[in-house]
Amino acid sequence: MCEPSYQLKLAHLYAAQMNVYGDRGNVIALRQRCLWRGIDLSVTAIEPGDQPDWASFDLAFFGGGQDSGQALIAQDLLERQGPGLRAALEDGLVLLAICGGYQLLGHYFLTHTGERLPGLGVLDVHTIGGNQRLIGNIVVEADLPTVGPVRLVGFENHSGRTYHGPGVQSMGRVLAGHGDNGEDGRGGAIYRNTFGCYLHGSLLPKNPQLTDHLISLALRRRYGPAAQLAPLDATLELHAQQTMIQRLI
Ligand code: GLN
Repeated sequence: MCEPSYQLKLAHLYAAQMNVYGDRGNVIALRQRCLWRGIDLSVTAIEPGDQPDWASFDLAFFGGGQDSGQALIAQDLLERQGPGLRAALEDGLVLLAICGGYQLLGHYFLTHTGERLPGLGVLDVHTIGGNQRLIGNIVVEADLPTVGPVRLVGFENHSGRTYHGPGVQSMGRVLAGHGDNGEDGRGGAIYRNTFGCYLHGSLLPKNPQLTDHLISLALRRRYGPAAQLAPLDATLELHAQQTMIQRLI
């Protein structure tokens, strides 16, 4: 077990407006895999109008949403959360963003109806809505520094096509499904400890390696490089993950 004195704080951005396909499950998975190791992970909901102290957080989660949900919170994200959140992300705050959340971390999202939603600009990506949605199961091959090579499984459903600039690293290579734009095989983007991708699922319950990678990054940032995650059984989750990969590739 890890030291029971480890404590981490997670900010859940706009849970009411941005939660599709069970994205909330990502927060539950982070909390549970912490709990099983004796790490206390507290969760703070961030609603429009809140003014949290972003420097106090270790992890953040930003789920997907309809274009209409994104339009409701885009201004709050940019204007109210922008300065504090950007500074925290530059300082290594660990953030996972899915689909609609991912799109709003980029420079902008031009929806398929022509509405231009400005993004936080933390990730050097931009998104253009198309008339045909990219839907289906997806497998992305990634290399996560604290756990090694993994094949992440998920489900995607988006009209937006996300294109990368030189300021981000690809999270992985698409082995099955559409990925960020259906054209260049990119599956998600990473900048510092900010991760954005299109994998609903929920992503983290299906991919315990990524869950543990995110917790490891947060622990090391808070408690120093010697902070280690205790090993934890994930036989069932890995069996389900493997079964899905076999069916898709
Ligand atoms: N509204 C966005 C799109 O369709 C994001 C959808 C989602 O989060 N699933 O591209």
